[in-house]
Amino acid sequence: MIMCPLLFYGGSREEDMDFGQFVVMFKSLFFEGFARPSGGMKTVLGLLMETYAKHGGELRLETGVRQIVAGNGAVQAVVTDMDETIECGRVFSSAGLWETVALCPEASPGDVKTGPGRLSFMEAVYVLDRPARELGEEASIIFFNNASTFSYKKPDEPLDLRSGVICFPGNFGENGVEGSPMARLTSIADYGYWMGIENPREYLKSKIEWSAKALKATNWVTPDFSRNVVFRDVFTPKTIKRYTGHINGAVYGAPDKMKTGETPVTGLYIIGTDQGFLGIVGAMLSGITVANLRLTHKD
Ligand SMILES: Cc1cc2nc3c(=O)[nH]c(=O)nc-3n(C[C@H](O)[C@H](O)[C@H](O)COP(=O)(O)OP(=O)(O)OC[C@H]3O[C@@H](n4cnc5c(N)ncnc54)[C@H](O)[C@@H]3O)c2cc1C
Repeated sequence: MIMCPLLFYGGSREEDMDFGQFVVMFKSLFFEGFARPSGGMKTVLGLLMETYAKHGGELRLETGVRQIVAGNGAVQAVVTDMDETIECGRVFSSAGLWETVALCPEASPGDVKTGPGRLSFMEAVYVLDRPARELGEEASIIFFNNASTFSYKKPDEPLDLRSGVICFPGNFGENGVEGSPMARLTSIADYGYWMGIENPREYLKSKIEWSAKALKATNWVTPDFSRNVVFRDVFTPKTIKRYTGHINGAVYGAPDKMKTGETPVTGLYIIGTDQGFLGIVGAMLSGITVANLRLTHKD
């Protein structure tokens, strides 16, 4: 169970975690604890975008990169899905290692044995008609597992109902989080099942069915609040794929990380989760570290 919170909140490898990442996660979760930026992630993203624009950065939203062009072993340009070619001598890609390789096959690392990650999740946010404390729940976060050992791998079922994370943001700190009372439930999910449902009605039906099953499976660790749910929002591996582009909806990326950020293509660097720093703060630190190293030094 020591591994359970660490893997749920940062495990990209099935059934295990690299020792370096284990140390970071262990200190972070068990010694430092959880925190939430006041105003949520939107506030942080707003600040980042504002600062980037102030320093002359140009952000193109809704613009995909179709290809990263390499020639003579070095990066030369990116081609957008609007067929625009942007010439450049450096590319920092946060798309993920294997996602970047799909855009630039020359970037494929020869010495990496494992491919893209396989771990994805379903998450359901339940808006409640009263604070969790009034329903008898004092905890802010519960990691649970009701099997004899904890299994962290792609399940054979749409969801692995044996384990999960349930979070009550209203119970954080003394005042909790502003807004409606909520509960959030995370379960390990099978990407193939969720991507395989083509009919939107079937997809919705499955989300309703499996989020109810997931909630029922928590009744032994938290009071049954199914009758207090006034609104439910559910995302699946399909949602993760759509918004992050990560192969297999693997939010924590590939099991093997590119710690130096380097690829076989000069000037093309991996940043973000597949460089090896974890989570939101990790992704930001990763970009800063690699950019500082590579933009201020000549290759
Ligand atoms: C629901 C959820 C909750 C989470 N909660 C937390 C939390 O509380 N704390 C925490 O620390 N971490 C959390 N995480 C994890 C955190 O979001 C990730 O670790 C982090 O976002 C990784 O950042 P990244 O930049 O490496 O990749 P991502 O954030 O996945 O960004 C990849 C980006 O690349 C873009 N992209 C991909 N392909 C292309 C292409 N061809 N062209 C153009 N753009 C492309 C995608 O659109 C995306 O914007 C959560 C993740 C999820 C899904």
